[in-house]
Amino acid sequence: MSSGSRLDPFVELYAARTEGMTASEIRALFAVANRPEIINMGGGSPYVSALPLELVAEMAAKVIAERGAQALQYMGGQGDERLRELVCGVMALEGITAGADDVIITVGSQQALDIIARIFLDPGDVVVAEAPSYVGALGAFAQYQAEVVHVAMDDDGLLPEELRISLERLERQGRRPKFLYTVPNYQNPAGVTLSRERREEIIELCARHDLLIVEDNPYGLLGFEGPPQPALRALTDEGIIYLGSFSKIFSSGIRVGWVVAPPGVKEKLIMAAEATTLCPVALSQFLAAEFLSNHPWEKQVEVFRDLYRTRRDACLEALETFFPPGASWTRPSGGFYVWVTLPEGIDAKAMLPRAIQGRVAYVPGTGFYADGQGRRNLRLSYSLPEPERIREAIRRLAAVVTDELEITAAVRGSEA
Ligand code: PMP
Repeated sequence: MSSGSRLDPFVELYAARTEGMTASEIRALFAVANRPEIINMGGGSPYVSALPLELVAEMAAKVIAERGAQALQYMGGQGDERLRELVCGVMALEGITAGADDVIITVGSQQALDIIARIFLDPGDVVVAEAPSYVGALGAFAQYQAEVVHVAMDDDGLLPEELRISLERLERQGRRPKFLYTVPNYQNPAGVTLSRERREEIIELCARHDLLIVEDNPYGLLGFEGPPQPALRALTDEGIIYLGSFSKIFSSGIRVGWVVAPPGVKEKLIMAAEATTLCPVALSQFLAAEFLSNHPWEKQVEVFRDLYRTRRDACLEALETFFPPGASWTRPSGGFYVWVTLPEGIDAKAMLPRAIQGRVAYVPGTGFYADGQGRRNLRLSYSLPEPERIREAIRRLAAVVTDELEITAAVRGSEA
């Protein structure tokens, strides 16, 4: 082999699309952030320890004892029909009417993002997405060499006026975006929720521009204040691809999610999924079906909701108590995340090594944008640490930010 990196002699063989593949900020962080002395406010892992594990063990044993021959076998690419029916009952809680035949079971909603990107995106295609957006979705779009056009949000989610301006600009440029990617509920990473009025406005705007909407909704049932907003897919069944997941209402480790898509899209998605996994994991699907059919699962979701609400409260109170002036943050009404804007002049990515030294971890904001925004931002996830640890984490982080402010002021002073 004549050239190429000494570290990786195969560099010249990779497909061009691998250029869009970079290790996510979160992955790089995970290696150090999981040391016991560090309080990790970085990863968005659900608190699965709140599950009644002995009961789950019984469910798993029952699945194998009663349906072992099927649970340990291949199955159809669209997924288990019984689970697809049960999933329709879950979606009904957010106002969605769909039939088992409209649903495809996937290996987490992450696989859904990948196959959606695969069937729609050619290199250079445009995807419109919130600013900031879920890092895993950006990664999926980057793999297919798409360009992401970000649209601003405020505390009520995506701004319809900004979306209109972006769509009209793209139209003038003769570029037709392939879809709008949105997380309307308790958004990852911003923690904000799209208001009811804006849901209607965005649907109408997208319909006017013939723009497909990809509605990614893993946190929809984890609202802390009252019943959930109707899903976009509940307000219209046209032009929406809806993604759901068991990761946050049951287990992230079983890797079961689902998609509801219009008929033509559904067929393509099944073919794309079959090409990657042949079929979703039978054992996991049967366990999910068991959870939904023979377990008071809505009570379990309530347990999760109460637990995350307490952690959200601890996080917001600690931010209020410890953070210096000039910083601001969102106030999530559900889900896992608070999005922090640091005081002017502080770079969240440059600060991270100091935070790790100060024994606290977060995800810097730049990972949630495809265009280099987010330097002053960071994402805090309150889902995993106990409330007391959250308080301590924020106290530690505030000390790092305050130090950083002093250093920035001193450097400015010496330059003046
Ligand atoms: N979408 C969003 C917005 C997420 O936050 C996550 C997980 N963090 C996923 C999709 C992927 O979830 P899973 O594959 O576990 O269903």
